[in-house]
Amino acid sequence: MQPGARGQAQRCVRFSSEPCQIKPANCFCRDFSIPDDRKDVVTRAIGTWAFSAHDFNDDELLLAAVASLSRQDSCSSSAPIGTYAFAEQLLTFLLATRKAYNFFVKYHNFRHACDVLQAVFYFLLQIRALPPVMHGDAISDPPSTCLGQVLQPIHTFSLIVSALGHDVGHPGVNNLFLETMGAPLALLYNDRSILESFHCAAYSQILRRYWAAVAADKACRKLMINIILATDMSHHNQYMSKLAALDEIVASRDPASIFDEKHVQERRELLCCLLIKGADICNVVSPPANSMASWC
Ligand SMILES: [Zn+2]
Repeated sequence: MQPGARGQAQRCVRFSSEPCQIKPANCFCRDFSIPDDRKDVVTRAIGTWAFSAHDFNDDELLLAAVASLSRQDSCSSSAPIGTYAFAEQLLTFLLATRKAYNFFVKYHNFRHACDVLQAVFYFLLQIRALPPVMHGDAISDPPSTCLGQVLQPIHTFSLIVSALGHDVGHPGVNNLFLETMGAPLALLYNDRSILESFHCAAYSQILRRYWAAVAADKACRKLMINIILATDMSHHNQYMSKLAALDEIVASRDPASIFDEKHVQERRELLCCLLIKGADICNVVSPPANSMASWC
C-alpha cells in the first residue's frame, strides 16, 4: 500500500476501505487522494441543485464522477451496464479522461466537464430515471415522471459517460475561430461541428484504451456520439423545435403517444441530447455559487 499525498492510505475508487487491487503498473491510484471526511461532502452534494464545482478540487470532482456512475448499480440488472460501471479500470479511465482536458483553458476544462456531469445526474434524478439519493435518513425522492420511464439504463449511463468527456481536449477557442483560421481541425471535419467531432473522436480513443467494453458496444457508442454532437450550439434552434414538439406529446399525458413503438427510440435519443444541452448551458440559471459569473 502506498502512502497518499496527505499521509493517508490510498483507497480504491469504490469508497471501499480496502486498498486498490489493480497492479501498480496499470493503476493511476497514486495520482488520486481524498480524505474520507470529504467523500461524504461530495456524495451529499452531487444530488443537489446547489452543487458548485468551484467548491471541490480535481480529486473531489473525480469522486463525484465515480459516485454518479455508481448510481448505475441500482440499474445494473440490465446487463451489460453493471459490468461497465464497476470495471476494474474505472479509476484509471477517469484519471486518463481528466488528463485529456487542457488545464490552461479557463472554462472548457475538467471542472466544467464535472459540472455538466453533475447537472445531468441531477436532471436524471429529478425525472426519476435514476433511483433517489439517500442522505443519511433523508431521501431526496421527487415524484415519478413519464420522462423517467422513457429512458433505459443504457441512456442514463451513456449520458453520464458522455458528459464527462464531451469537451475533452478543448483548445479554448470556438468553431468559428477554427473555421476562420482554416485550422487543421476545421479542415479535418469540413467546418461542421468541428470541436464536437474532435471531442467525440478523442474521447473514443480514451474509451477504446481504458474502457474497451464501452467503446465496443455499438448502441452505446452511437448514443454517445449523438449526445456529444448535440452540444454544438449552432444546432440549438433545431433542438428547441424538437423540444416544443416533444413537450406537446408529453403534455397530452397519453401513454400510447409517448411510448409509441415507432418513435420511442428516437424520443429517447432526443431526450438524452436535450438533457446534456440543458446541463451544458445551465450556469445562467444556477445558484449564485455556480453561476456564470463565478467561472470568469
Ligand atoms: Zn461543455
